[in-house]
Amino acid sequence: MNFTETKTLYDNHVLPTYARYDVCFARGEGSYLFDDTGKKYLDFSSGIGVNSIGHAHPKWVAAVAAQAGTLTHTSNLYYTEPGGLLAQKLCELSGLNAVFFANSGAEANEGLIKAARKYSADKYDNNRHIVITLNRSFHGRTHTTLAATGQESFHKHFLPLTPGFVHVDPNDLGALEAQGGDVCAVLLEAVQGEGGVYPLDKDYVQAVAKLCAERDWLLLFDEVQTGIARCGTWFGYQQHGVLPDGISFAKGVAGGFPLGGFILGEKAKGVFAPGLHGATFGGTPLGCAAALAALDILSGVIEDVPRKGKLLRDGIEAFGSPKVHGTRGLGLMIGIAVEGDPKAYVKELLAHGLVCLYAGSDAVRLLPPLTVSGAEIAEGLSILREVLG
Ligand SMILES: *Cc1c(COP(=O)(O)O)cnc(C)c1O
Repeated sequence: MNFTETKTLYDNHVLPTYARYDVCFARGEGSYLFDDTGKKYLDFSSGIGVNSIGHAHPKWVAAVAAQAGTLTHTSNLYYTEPGGLLAQKLCELSGLNAVFFANSGAEANEGLIKAARKYSADKYDNNRHIVITLNRSFHGRTHTTLAATGQESFHKHFLPLTPGFVHVDPNDLGALEAQGGDVCAVLLEAVQGEGGVYPLDKDYVQAVAKLCAERDWLLLFDEVQTGIARCGTWFGYQQHGVLPDGISFAKGVAGGFPLGGFILGEKAKGVFAPGLHGATFGGTPLGCAAALAALDILSGVIEDVPRKGKLLRDGIEAFGSPKVHGTRGLGLMIGIAVEGDPKAYVKELLAHGLVCLYAGSDAVRLLPPLTVSGAEIAEGLSILREVLG
């Protein structure tokens, strides 16, 4: 099929919920994508942080193929070895205690919010149900995670949303302290991703952790985008020196396979009894084998993530361009604050062979594969210079 034929299929049969670029990708290899004409692109988007190990990594392909030919799915009524091993690994990496496997980021956050409400109901008789999130946050597209998302633009048209959410400004401790006795949890992104790649202040996060401990509010982190080595540590909160009561994960965890979930710490790990939560596709042996392979590959590159992130940001800032106001982020989660409309730059970069994203109102966002090489970073910088320099 040529591009027009493929596009026509989408135009006729797919809901137009995305403004797609006029590119049809046919295959990927490492940090590169190839479109249906064979044109090569450097991928600094990783499918929005999903392809954390690049495309078609041979070790990952072998692990997925082997598991696909052995056992793909059993339902959660039985035990499988990959599920046990992945849960153990995620507990070890997070310092938390027990995992629930789901499929997507929104579903992971839904579960985390259910855990907070249940924790509170058990202890305080349903009198504390408010979950505080931050303005500019993004937590997903289901009705509950939309309610959690602190951006009005996502809410309109879909009211009423799930009640029980309050939004306060990031890095404003006073706004949190002013909340009343009906709060059960605070949900944060260590770096606000969709909102524009804004890291939270370390002092603020530490003060929030202290406040949560004092008031018995659960401290929750949405690690869907920041987690799984993206920021240079396994999870974003680990750079703030705090230990949350629960976290969600998804995007990069299985190297391109859809998998998500949440992990609860000591305080809340006991809230769910059999029958209180579930997901048919959650934690399939195929998804878990994909994640185990991805985590194994990532453990070999995580140490280099901060250095690679710095290389990119220093390179961009060295353009000394009036189009670039600065960079922000953590590790290989990078926002370039640009003059004018970031969407226009992203389109131009794509035409120049660099796939990247925008975020918030002013940022071109880079989420390269964490396996990206120094030579590929240099290549990316030279394309960025053509457009932003
Ligand atoms: C992408 C994202 C989500 C939603 O994940 P889906 O898999 O699209 O449901 C939630 N939270 C954050 C921080 C995200 O970046």
